[in-house]
Amino acid sequence: MVSFDEKDKHLIARQSMVRFQIAGRGITDKRVLTVMEQIPREEFITAEYGQQAYDDNPLPIGMGQTISQPYIVALMTQELELAAEHEILEIGTGSGYQTAVLAKLCRKVYTIERLSQLQEYAQACLGRLKIENVEFYAGDGTKGWPDEKQFDRIIVTAASPKIPLPLIDQLKIGGKIVIPIGGDYVQELICGTKTESGEITIKNICGVRFVKLIGQYGYSDE
Ligand code: SAM
Repeated sequence: MVSFDEKDKHLIARQSMVRFQIAGRGITDKRVLTVMEQIPREEFITAEYGQQAYDDNPLPIGMGQTISQPYIVALMTQELELAAEHEILEIGTGSGYQTAVLAKLCRKVYTIERLSQLQEYAQACLGRLKIENVEFYAGDGTKGWPDEKQFDRIIVTAASPKIPLPLIDQLKIGGKIVIPIGGDYVQELICGTKTESGEITIKNICGVRFVKLIGQYGYSDE
């Protein structure tokens, strides 16, 4: 629970984050900017880092994982070109902040987190904000959603050696997947679009640095 003064301070910091870190770096999708100005990022940050909620960098959320840098959340969301009727699969729930941004922009988010403690943390954060169009699953997201659903969009918020095959299968024709691909220290953020023939055409976005996607079709847990 935060006091009114704290709330005002956070609101000013949030407006500044959107103006300078996000719009200032070229994010132009007004819906993304509006939603990121509305969602209280401080609700997703652990007490230890509460004063840094609007800093221009990722922050630890426990268990060796991080909440992504706000600009990267905005960039990935903009690249998805979400529509209100879309259903999206998110791999790597983490704190749930990216999940909240997605949930405000489309019909339903299906989100998978490998670490059940983080899944519970994210569920509690979204619960406090009364965001209800989200279904959670704890498990290996590289294997896709555990029934045969197909998605309009897929976002992966951890670095993978390649696009996991089950995710390609669960993407609708014409659907988009945004995912960081590459090695341990630096990766390329890409946006793939699924063609009529089931292939993925790739657009390179920029270099990024994410924690590893660990699972059957990602990296091994070493
Ligand atoms: N977008 C999140 C946020 O805003 O807080 C940050 C995600 S964090 C960079 C990456 C997350 O992916 C971690 O929570 C990690 O446990 C999770 N992860 C790694 N491998 C996974 C897998 N195979 N399936 C599901 N989640 C996975």
